[in-house]
Amino acid sequence: MTTVVARPSRPPETAVRPSRGSIFASRLITALLVIGPVIALGVAIPLLWGHAVSLPDLILAVVLFFVTGHGIAIGFHRLFTHSSFTPNRPLKIVLASIGSMAIEGSIIGWVANHRRHHMFSDQVGDPHSPHRYGTGAIAQTRGFFYAHVGWLFSVDTTSADRYAPDLLGDPDLVVVSRLFPLFAIASLAVPFGIGWLWAGTLAGALTALIWAGVVRMMVLHHVTWSVNSICHVFGRQPFTQKDRSRNFAPLAVLSFGESWHNFHHAHPSSARHGALPRQIDTSAELIRIFERLGWATRVRWPTAAQLDGARR
Ligand SMILES: [Zn+2]
Ligand SMILES: [Zn+2]
Repeated sequence: MTTVVARPSRPPETAVRPSRGSIFASRLITALLVIGPVIALGVAIPLLWGHAVSLPDLILAVVLFFVTGHGIAIGFHRLFTHSSFTPNRPLKIVLASIGSMAIEGSIIGWVANHRRHHMFSDQVGDPHSPHRYGTGAIAQTRGFFYAHVGWLFSVDTTSADRYAPDLLGDPDLVVVSRLFPLFAIASLAVPFGIGWLWAGTLAGALTALIWAGVVRMMVLHHVTWSVNSICHVFGRQPFTQKDRSRNFAPLAVLSFGESWHNFHHAHPSSARHGALPRQIDTSAELIRIFERLGWATRVRWPTAAQLDGARR
């Protein structure tokens, strides 16, 4: 099995290096999104403990986690990156919009980056392989943190022209991608507004913003990043050993089926990742409902031959 030991400073498949000003701005925004929620939580929990965690806040947090998480899993990942089904236009726009509200970057940038991950999986050119520094304990630990969050600070921008020309050719998706900052603001404004309406006070609006906005966003970020880090290090490889991707059952519910990552790398365009019996995959269940409603067609379900490939 090949280990990533080095990669060129700017592989030919990446975009033109951005200016120093835009690198600084992008790192600053990333730092705010990654570290900000942790600091906010550290301040908020002691202040709010015992009187500001209401059931409506938690229910709203779970609902928005479910909605935006499936926007990433079904929309950004299975549909827009891997074309695992054909949606009607309203479903396409809704999935692109709720995925954008996860605040994981614009849809076209996300898709381009993830397609590059599959093309170079755990090899030189993979934007977030945990094996990039080698096999020793320190190298593996360093690689794990790089794959989880460190790569977000890299200036190694993936070329959308090269990796997502189909999305660039879809006017609906270009508009959604350009509107990403508005979706990000809406993702926090919606819980703030609902909290205000529900509680009728600014304090109620703020606690809803913290739990159903900031904390919900932070947890989903770490779930998505865990697929990049944990699911390339821990778990089983029943379907393929062409890279380090693994099936990691404990994350199946929280990741909406995305942690069946070994099957996914073996058959990337499959609409179902949890392909074996008792493998929870709520994204696939929802795609099945969309198919029955006639909103999704040409769904690529796992074939018997793909399932027979499993070493149980
Ligand atoms: Zn992967
Ligand atoms: Zn994928």
